[in-house]
Amino acid sequence: MATKKLSLKQKYSHLTRGLDWEPSYQKADDIFPYAKYEGIKIHDWDAWEDPFKLTMDSYWKFQAEKERKLYAVIESMAQNNGQLGITDARYLNAVKLFIQGITPLEYQAHRHFAHLARHLPGAGLRVAAQMQSIDELRHCQTQIHTISHYNKFFDGMHDFSHMHDRLWYLSVPKSFFDDATSAGPFEFLTSISFAFEYVLTNLVFVPFMSGAAYNGDMATVTFGFSAQSDESRHMTLGLEAVRFLLEQDESNVPIVQHWIDKWFWRGYRLLSLVSMMMDYMLPKKVMSWSEAWEIYYEEAGGALFADLARYGIREPKYSDVAKAEKDHISHQVWSIFYNYSHAAAVHTWDIDDEHMAWMREKYPASFEAIYQPRYLEWREQAKNGQRFYNNGLPQLCQVCQIPMAFTEPDDPSKICFRVSEYEGDKYHTCSDGCKDIFDYEPVKYVQAWLPVHQIFQGNCGGATMPEVLDWCHIKQGADNLDYAGSPEEEMWNRWMEGRRSPPPAFAVAAE
Ligand code: FE
Ligand code: ZN
Repeated sequence: MATKKLSLKQKYSHLTRGLDWEPSYQKADDIFPYAKYEGIKIHDWDAWEDPFKLTMDSYWKFQAEKERKLYAVIESMAQNNGQLGITDARYLNAVKLFIQGITPLEYQAHRHFAHLARHLPGAGLRVAAQMQSIDELRHCQTQIHTISHYNKFFDGMHDFSHMHDRLWYLSVPKSFFDDATSAGPFEFLTSISFAFEYVLTNLVFVPFMSGAAYNGDMATVTFGFSAQSDESRHMTLGLEAVRFLLEQDESNVPIVQHWIDKWFWRGYRLLSLVSMMMDYMLPKKVMSWSEAWEIYYEEAGGALFADLARYGIREPKYSDVAKAEKDHISHQVWSIFYNYSHAAAVHTWDIDDEHMAWMREKYPASFEAIYQPRYLEWREQAKNGQRFYNNGLPQLCQVCQIPMAFTEPDDPSKICFRVSEYEGDKYHTCSDGCKDIFDYEPVKYVQAWLPVHQIFQGNCGGATMPEVLDWCHIKQGADNLDYAGSPEEEMWNRWMEGRRSPPPAFAVAAE
């Protein structure tokens, strides 16, 4: 009997619609308990148009090919001392933030897409979620494997997943994702697939990947490219999922709009860490945060929301605030990290004259008047042996968990501080955006695990800073403090001096 060859489209429809069935002895509502409680109404799951009709066998084939290439590059990086190709050791603080803050989110994404692959009622969407779940696990693994090369030489990367659950600045990305995974399935898709992966993705991808390429970090460039085709699948899923929700029922529109407002603001606050990394941690700059925001949000996002207007969707609430803040947030977040470098697993440093000149050019409206005098003062203090470390613990925003250092959108001399009351207690937020999110679901955010509160309550290893740092597994005197005087700086300078003599990898290994 001749076997009939199926087209890809036919194979795909067997994989999805063909494998699904109408339950006969259980109620659909019992099988899919999370499908309705958010109020989203879906009338016809078959109307879901899969943007990529990918079958499992072609999926494995593509992915295996990418893995083969990636691991060949990792191998050659290790053999050729790839760590010597970067512009400066300070660059690696961007990579530290990446592995501490973002890689664990890939793992969370893997887990939650697996959950969606079980719990979404539509077969097509379930298969897309299953593939994304496998992608995210792969991202997590390839990032760990690639960055492990730097971990042989540099500090701050040795226990990233332990730190992710404990360190104050890592609770920013962690709580962002916890918020998404503890929401319903459609809010999760809107938050991660649409708001983060579709709307804001270039603001992560461009600074990290172009930043890596500009600064000689072939490792990061390679896993970035290896993830790129997955990302385009994920972005399309995000946009198509939101369109599907909007097309299925008019009453979905206000629900989705609320999620877009909320997750735009949460995503934007999370990206303030990227803004700092972009403006301060890349020795060779790609572009400024404010330029990136204009191109990738104001222009691209503007076009997207103009397109979604036909469904009754408008631009996210408070995008005007984000616009007003774009000349400030990177400097404010860098200042937070400079204040608390003794309690962080990244370094900060004096901003040199060349860097200041670049800032003046990129931020004519804010840098020279507001931030330059601050940095000059800090430089003066450091020169006198009084490098400034803030020994108090900051108030954190109850929603985004960033120390309260952002200023009023129309007054950069005044800290923005909002207060809500819930059941007799006061809760503080950093902005109207975060306050709205709190006020809409206070019962969720009163449970937030705020690192500073936890330290004061005695839940973080002890009452002194060294005890807390031990509890976070920070190697004191190596992972933390200023770059000036760090073991990393000493090693880097030694390498640069001895560039022509023995290969540094062996020199280090022999110690
Ligand atoms: Fe990913
Ligand atoms: Zn906030």
